[in-house]
Amino acid sequence: MKKAAVITGGSGGIGEAICSLLAKDGYNIILHYNSNEKKAENIAVKLKESYGIEVFTVGCDLAEDGAGKALGEKIQELTDNVQVLVNNAGVSLVGVFQCLDSESVRRLLNVNLTNAMELTAKIMPMMLKNHKGSIINISSVWGVTGGSCEVHYSASKAGLIGFTKALAKEVGPSGIRVNCVAPGFIETEMNSCFDTEAVKGVVDETPLCRTGKPYDVAELVSFLASDKADFITGQVIGVDGGMGI
Ligand code: NAP
Repeated sequence: MKKAAVITGGSGGIGEAICSLLAKDGYNIILHYNSNEKKAENIAVKLKESYGIEVFTVGCDLAEDGAGKALGEKIQELTDNVQVLVNNAGVSLVGVFQCLDSESVRRLLNVNLTNAMELTAKIMPMMLKNHKGSIINISSVWGVTGGSCEVHYSASKAGLIGFTKALAKEVGPSGIRVNCVAPGFIETEMNSCFDTEAVKGVVDETPLCRTGKPYDVAELVSFLASDKADFITGQVIGVDGGMGI
């Protein structure tokens, strides 16, 4: 199989944009979803028609213990040539720190951090064998600065940053780059809980005076995946309109 890119959470707002740009860049796409199988299938049809590539959809609930490993094993059955892995699947959890229940926290950490690491470990041998790979972890501005009433979410996203830097050092000599993207407020389903007034508050705090679109994030992912970013590893790059300054 020709070069492939794995995108977790490919059925979500940012994930769909990433799948589209990597398909345009010529990768076969392995599109992971959790609950939204229909959307995943629709995206797959569209990308196959538009770019003449192969698209495989793979469902997996990454909140479950051990799911990252299981997803990695399913992907190993599809290809031995994953050159790009985008750990994008994520959930948010908003509330006062001490009031959030431990089951929700366990699920959040599994999706946002633990299973991203487990999945990466399963994909790593392919990249090592080919002496080539780009791993891109989707963190958040809150992983850099910390967000009030999103403490566990912030901790999970900060964990992705530590994971990125440490792994970049470990696998750089083997030709594999690991980078992190830290979006600010991006218009997706994840933010549908915020009303107009709350969104205006975010815009007021953002130097570029607007919210972000999924393609703002996807353009950076496409660049980091490409050979144009061949000397870039271990970095955390904000796509936040300056919100995190
Ligand atoms: P979204 O539209 O809500 O998409 C979330 C994606 O994660 C979906 O594909 C969803 O799959 C998947 N997902 C949710 N629960 C899952 C589970 N239990 N197991 C496996 N996958 C699961 O959100 P988004 O804004 O595109 O977020 C993408 C990434 O960007 C996340 O990591 C998020 O933390 C990060 N981010 C977003 C923003 C923002 O403002 N939107 C800001 C900073 C960082 P299904 O839909 O198939 O269930």
